[in-house]
Amino acid sequence: MMDEEKRQKTIVIGAGPVGALAALYAAQRGHEVEVYELRSDLRLPSTTPLNFTKSINLALSERGINAMRQSGCPNLLNKVDSETIPLRARMIHGAKGGDLYELSQEYDVHGRTIFAVDRGGLNRALLDELESMPNVKFFFNHKLTGADFKRRKAWFEAPTGKAPQDSDGVRDQEVEVNFDLLIGADGAHSAARFHLMKYVRMDYQQEYIDTLWCEFTIPAKEREDANDRQSSFSISPHHLHIWPGKEFMFIAIPSLDGSFTCTLFLPSSHFNTLENDPNSVPIFFDTNFPGVTSLIHPSELIASFTQNPHLPLISIKCGPYHFSDSAVIVGDAAHAMVPFYGQGMNAGLEDVRVLFSFLDEHILSPTYTKNTASQRAQALAEYSSFRKDDAHAINDLALENYTEMRASVVSPLYRLRKWLEER
Ligand code: FAD
Repeated sequence: MMDEEKRQKTIVIGAGPVGALAALYAAQRGHEVEVYELRSDLRLPSTTPLNFTKSINLALSERGINAMRQSGCPNLLNKVDSETIPLRARMIHGAKGGDLYELSQEYDVHGRTIFAVDRGGLNRALLDELESMPNVKFFFNHKLTGADFKRRKAWFEAPTGKAPQDSDGVRDQEVEVNFDLLIGADGAHSAARFHLMKYVRMDYQQEYIDTLWCEFTIPAKEREDANDRQSSFSISPHHLHIWPGKEFMFIAIPSLDGSFTCTLFLPSSHFNTLENDPNSVPIFFDTNFPGVTSLIHPSELIASFTQNPHLPLISIKCGPYHFSDSAVIVGDAAHAMVPFYGQGMNAGLEDVRVLFSFLDEHILSPTYTKNTASQRAQALAEYSSFRKDDAHAINDLALENYTEMRASVVSPLYRLRKWLEER
């Protein structure tokens, strides 16, 4: 191929939800796309999701849905839609006297909902869509270890091919890759961001909050009626369930199989206390999260607490997100946030839509040499400055919403309780 006809080569680092969507947007625009992912293909049964014992459920909202809607792949949204559960409200759980109560708080007066989605399922749908595109190549088990954004070269630890593709962690050679544009979507501990910092005067701020999280499961019930899916849920499937506590909380999000993925958020000192005496976990739940031990057997509570990791929560703000016309970071790599606003992935997917809207404005041809370097650099610079304020605002809202979810949601309960007491 003549050099003037060279198509833009875009490499995407990280095949999580945000990297996969970025690859899809680039592929739709005719770029030669290569996706480099640290782990093996998550669609292989042997791949354990990063940081999680199994895939977790997330709240998908319009921000993320719109980014997928605009990907130019109508099948994608149909596929994702069919695997979601609409959540119309949050359900606050508590106890008054010895009695348990539930209080539903609608999200929207017009009945609009957010959606529970399995992160792995969403990621798989994106990878399947990419797989069907002739201009996309995957490189799994490839770890970004270095990048030169001036010479447009990246280095990866990679398998020689002697070890099986699905054997995580066997990377016994270094490979050098040339690119026109590198999109870093490699998560909160991004190597792309680390290397970008050597080229850009990047402001960077990170904060670990003093709360850890641990995953539990409310199992599906045996169905009373084989055709009635609803009957396999122990509690309402159309709510995001919250057991608030002043300093901590427990939440549950439904899965299609009738189970709920649950998360305990707790200050590290409380985790330490319970780690010293795991048998006290059910008592802790009975005291603070009334009703949960009737949904999760006490022995299962102890098993999940002792076997599942107790993971930290990090909030990262940085900027700018790009270097010249050769590199840009998106998703958690650019703005990891605490999960209390349910917007981390949604905001990352939105990054992709916004990034490509700036690229589309300035770059009209997929033929690399037909666009000038200054056009490309201008698009990335505009993206960086436009997106930074929004991303920082969502980070702040996410931190603030922790107070809202674990404490403020209780206020209406107090009002309700008072009202009941006055009757
Ligand atoms: P990641 O999902 O972290 O993916 C990054 C990818 O890059 C990974 O596949 C990784 O293997 C790969 N990688 C890393 N390093 C390298 C390297 N050196 N070379 C190559 N590849 C690399 N968000 C929501 O929108 N709604 C929610 O309800 C929600 N709930 C959450 C609940 C919890 C408990 C947590 C922890 C997070 C939650 N989030 C939620 C946030 C959401 O999970 C993240 O924002 C989202 O996963 C970010 O996607 P990403 O693709 O940017 O990064």
